[in-house]
Amino acid sequence: MCSGRVDLPHVFRAFSNGVDGVFIGGCHLGECNYITHGNFHALNMTLLAKRLMERIGLNPGRLRIEFMSAGEGIVFADVTNDFVKEIKELGPLGEIEGIDGDELRTRLDGITKMVPYIKIMKNEKLGTPLQNLEEKDTLFTAEEIDRLFSEMISYYIDPEKCQACMTCARRCPVGAIISAKNQIHIIEQDKCIRCGSCLEACPTKFGAVTRLSPGEAVPPPPPEDQRAVVRKGKKADDS
Ligand code: SF4
Ligand code: SF4
Repeated sequence: MCSGRVDLPHVFRAFSNGVDGVFIGGCHLGECNYITHGNFHALNMTLLAKRLMERIGLNPGRLRIEFMSAGEGIVFADVTNDFVKEIKELGPLGEIEGIDGDELRTRLDGITKMVPYIKIMKNEKLGTPLQNLEEKDTLFTAEEIDRLFSEMISYYIDPEKCQACMTCARRCPVGAIISAKNQIHIIEQDKCIRCGSCLEACPTKFGAVTRLSPGEAVPPPPPEDQRAVVRKGKKADDS
C-alpha cells in the first residue's frame, strides 16, 4: 500500500506481534503521483513514532523509512540489507532495551490506546510537509512528547448536572460515553481521546461536562444503582 497510509497503529501492532524491526519504503519525496504527497505524511508519522518508541523505552533504530523509486532495485536491496543487519545487531525486541515480554506488551498497548489523542494533538505537524529535511530530527522533540503526556487533560461528566439527554454520547467519535436512557452518562477514561466534543455538545442549560486540568484526579462515577437521573425541578422520590 501507499506509504502515506501507514499509520502509528500499524507500527505498534507490528511490534506487538513480535517483529524486531519495521521498515517502510516510500516513493522519493516530491515525486508522489498524487497531490496528497502521502510520503511526506509517512515521514512525519515515522518521526513521531520514533519519539513514542523512545518514550516507552524502545530503540528507535528499530523503525526506518527510506525513499526510492520502483526502478531502484539495487537501492532497495542495499537499504533493506543494511536495515536487517542493524536489527540483527540490536537483537530480539526488548532484549537490548531490558524490557521483558509482558512489560513490553503493556507499554505497546498503552501507547496504542493513546494514538487517537496523540494524532489530534499533533495533527497539524503530521500533515505539514517538511520543507527542510535537515529539520527532521527536531520536528518532534522528546520534551514535546513528555509535555503531551504531562499536560494531558481529562473530561468528566458531573452526575449532579447530567440530564441524560444523550447528546454527548451521539457526538463522541470513539463511543467512550456510557449512555442509557434516563441514566447519568459516564466517560470511560481509558477510551476517551480527549477531543472535547462532549464539552461542546452538552447543552449550556445543563453544563454537565467539565474539562479537568492536567494531573487533576477524575472523580469516580456513581455506583450503578445510583445512576438514575433526577430531572431538574423534581426530587428523586417524586417519580
Ligand atoms: S472528550 Fe468526550 S467526546 Fe471526546 S472522546 Fe472523550 S468522551 Fe468522547
Ligand atoms: S450532553 Fe450533558 S446532559 Fe446530556 S447526557 Fe451528556 S453530559 Fe448529560
